[in-house]
Amino acid sequence: MIKDKVVIITGASAGIGEATAKLLASKGAKVVLGARRADKLEKIVGEITRAGGHAVFQELDVTKQSDNDAIVELAKNSFGRLDVTFLNAGLMPNSMLSALKTDDWHQMVDVNIKGVLNGVAAVLPTFIAQKAGHVIAVSSVAGLKAYPGGAVYGGTKWFLRDFMEVLRMESAMEGTNIRTATIYPAAINTELLTTISDKGAAAGMQQIYDKYGISPDRIADVVAFAIDAPEDTTINELTVGPAAQPW
Ligand code: NDP
Repeated sequence: MIKDKVVIITGASAGIGEATAKLLASKGAKVVLGARRADKLEKIVGEITRAGGHAVFQELDVTKQSDNDAIVELAKNSFGRLDVTFLNAGLMPNSMLSALKTDDWHQMVDVNIKGVLNGVAAVLPTFIAQKAGHVIAVSSVAGLKAYPGGAVYGGTKWFLRDFMEVLRMESAMEGTNIRTATIYPAAINTELLTTISDKGAAAGMQQIYDKYGISPDRIADVVAFAIDAPEDTTINELTVGPAAQPW
């Protein structure tokens, strides 16, 4: 059930995170939004509240453990509990390895991998103590297949497949009832392509998204589906993309 669940959403200022925040709030969840752009979060919280929903926000950089810990406290102080964390923040500055965009490589590792580790570290003590919780992460089809130009991005998303599966297995072994879901989206129209600093890679990706991209609302629907499943059921992996996209 979604109603009254308290849900943290990282990367909630745009794209998939924003769409998911609005959908879950419309279904009665209490959403706790984090991202670096507080002005955007404030606007989204206003929209949710005016529509009759419950939402709060905090400026959050997922690369900082203290920010991740603080948003857990915000969720508990605002709504009395925490049920779900949606670890969605990420970026995709694709380029050929030969371009040696090493700053981009390191930023992807910091946000897409370490950001998830920080987010999980922040919620685990609560989820273990209450013997309940739900960790949902956004990988990518680039976490299932290799793409030229996406060596590092894909690597950060392949990481999630392993990490989330082991989280699921260990929780089941330890009896802590932590549900997991990993989402593998294909081309979704968001601000993601603005993170590509390599002009050639950006133009190539833009063509794909112009041709195939679908709304982030489709991913929000899938997140809602995973949360809505009965508490004894984990909907573990979901690959979602445009029906027309061949690869
Ligand atoms: P957007 O660029 O629209 O949204 C990304 C979000 O992440 C923004 O809200 C941004 O907010 C936030 N973010 C980036 N860096 C940080 C940080 N250091 N700390 C906190 N928040 C951060 O892209 P999408 O909605 O598409 O991306 C969401 C997730 O979906 C990503 O993990 C992406 O890899 C994944 N994905 C997307 C696909 C697509 O086709 N769009 C396909 C497959 C996977 P701010 O800048 O305000 O911090």
